[in-house]
Amino acid sequence: MVAVRFWLLLWFISTSVWGGTLTLDPSQRMYVLQDEIHYIEDADKTLSVEDLLAMPDESWTPNKREIFNQGYSDAVWWLKVSLVNASSMPLTRYLEVSYPVLDRLDIYLSEQGRQVEPKAPPESFLMGDKIPFYQRPMQHRFFIVPLTIKPQASLTVLVAVSSSSSVQVPMQVWEPTAFYQVDQSQNLIQGIYFGIMLVMILYNLFVFLAVGERNYLYYVLFVTSMLLFLASLNGYTFQYLWPEATQWNDQVLLVALSGVVFFGTVFTHRFLDLSLLNARLRVSSATLMSASVATVVASFFVSYSRMIHILIPIAAIACVYAFSTGAVRWRQGSQSAKFYSIAWTAMLAGGLILAMNKFQILPKTSFTEYATQIGSALEVILLSFALAERINQEKHMRFTAQQEALQSERALRQAREEALTAQSRAMEMLESKVQERTQELEVLNRKLAELSTTDALTGLKNRRLLDQSLQEALVRCTRYQQELSVILIDIDHFKRFNDTYGHLAGDACLRAVARKIDGDLRWPSDLAARYGGEEFCILLPETREDGARIVAERIRSTIEQMEIEIEGTWVKVTISLGVTTLLPTPELKMTDVLAIADEALYSAKSQGRNRVVFMPL
Ligand code: GH3
Ligand code: MG
Ligand code: MG
Repeated sequence: MVAVRFWLLLWFISTSVWGGTLTLDPSQRMYVLQDEIHYIEDADKTLSVEDLLAMPDESWTPNKREIFNQGYSDAVWWLKVSLVNASSMPLTRYLEVSYPVLDRLDIYLSEQGRQVEPKAPPESFLMGDKIPFYQRPMQHRFFIVPLTIKPQASLTVLVAVSSSSSVQVPMQVWEPTAFYQVDQSQNLIQGIYFGIMLVMILYNLFVFLAVGERNYLYYVLFVTSMLLFLASLNGYTFQYLWPEATQWNDQVLLVALSGVVFFGTVFTHRFLDLSLLNARLRVSSATLMSASVATVVASFFVSYSRMIHILIPIAAIACVYAFSTGAVRWRQGSQSAKFYSIAWTAMLAGGLILAMNKFQILPKTSFTEYATQIGSALEVILLSFALAERINQEKHMRFTAQQEALQSERALRQAREEALTAQSRAMEMLESKVQERTQELEVLNRKLAELSTTDALTGLKNRRLLDQSLQEALVRCTRYQQELSVILIDIDHFKRFNDTYGHLAGDACLRAVARKIDGDLRWPSDLAARYGGEEFCILLPETREDGARIVAERIRSTIEQMEIEIEGTWVKVTISLGVTTLLPTPELKMTDVLAIADEALYSAKSQGRNRVVFMPL
């Protein structure tokens, strides 16, 4: 018993002397290792575990930071911490290093305490993303080593870290059930995050395939790059996608981040119509894009640590570029730039909260812990909305333009139709007018023709028509060898009549005689005309001598019986008629015919008037 107490006393003294010791309280669920960590830099990478274990406590430098962080360094960093179990029960704990991109993380465990002699060789776990994932003692995206600390004993943990990434070693000691509880909710939150991102990727990919709008594709590639970057940074891709691809593990961070810059810039440029804003911005966008392509190419040849130093400033510039151009476009009144800027604000706010959390300005809560995830998820969702909004706007604009075009086309068609109906109506009107006019003209023409062939005083045909008709009758009767009769009529002593009753009475007498002559003709082919002053002529086609004599005698007798009223008294007149009938020959002239008729008339006059004299050819 005495011996035991002695050892305990000695042990507690020793532990209280060296600061690198953490006495585990069995009821404490978790410790964050901070100033318990002591370290030594092995710049030449020559030291062995045994060398380190043999080093006196004074050689070790205490870690002053919240998290052990040496930035970018080529050295091997040795970290040491002693965990003490003061209880009488063995303690099982998990040692966690929650920075998954470390290249090499070798952990050595050396038991101390009661059984110092004989020293067992330290247990070792070789991990890091340059070692295949399956070699880890626990299949976890972080580095987890299960520890068992015997009752009233201590365990020295030696960690050798080297990495082309920044050398950060956030170390925790977990009580296993607490670890699983926290791990579960962390995985759930990350799962929700990845789920959101995947849904946005797939949804927008389908929209791209359906709509063909290339902005959707750039958006999808931008989100995919971001997802790949964050999933790799959190160790998920190594665990689930390429657990053996140890070389690719570093490179994927460069490629994915370059992808974020490249596709983010393309998307921003097209989405905000930056070429319209300022022609020089095309050059800026192109420069950023070329830079990101160059970093992808270079990542195959140049070390990660050098490349990441080039890429991070480029990413920062791209971020500022995307945000500031969005803000300018928003101020210019672009509706889609508004959504875009809000989306980027969410992303930047996430980053800012994370940074403030790291610098202990904000308390560490599950919200501040996952600020990047929340921010980027919000950004991705808002950008998707912005994209849809923009497409909607374009569709609306296209629709309105189309509608306007349709309307003007309809108006045009209507106008054309109206013009056509007006034209056809005008044509119809014109046609009917023309027809009307033509009819009127025809009537007038007929009247004119009639007038030109009618004697104004008597209403009989005039001399002109008589000549024409006689000529035609001669031709026709010659051709058909038919006889033609002609009667010439002259009023007897008409000079005297005029002298007695006056010219007006003479005219009335002429009209009365003409009416009677016309009334005595029976055949439609017969024609009576005024031949001269008080002389009339009758053509009787297809009429022989006897017929002509009858017609002449009938007329003579009608006139003889006729009485004309002149100023209350009844006056009588007589007429003399010369008749001829002939069978015309082609040589026979019209004047010859009329001359014979005239001769017959003369003969009637000389025989005492009021008679008919026939004279053959
Ligand atoms: P006769 O019996 O020999 O025929 O005697 P007449 O007086 O009739 O002689 P003639 O035939 O030579 O006379 C023609 C006269 O007819 C001349 C003129 O006074 C008259 N006369 C001719 N034309 C017209 C006319 O249009 N109106 C009127 N009122 N008289 C006319
Ligand atoms: Mg006469
Ligand atoms: Mg006479």
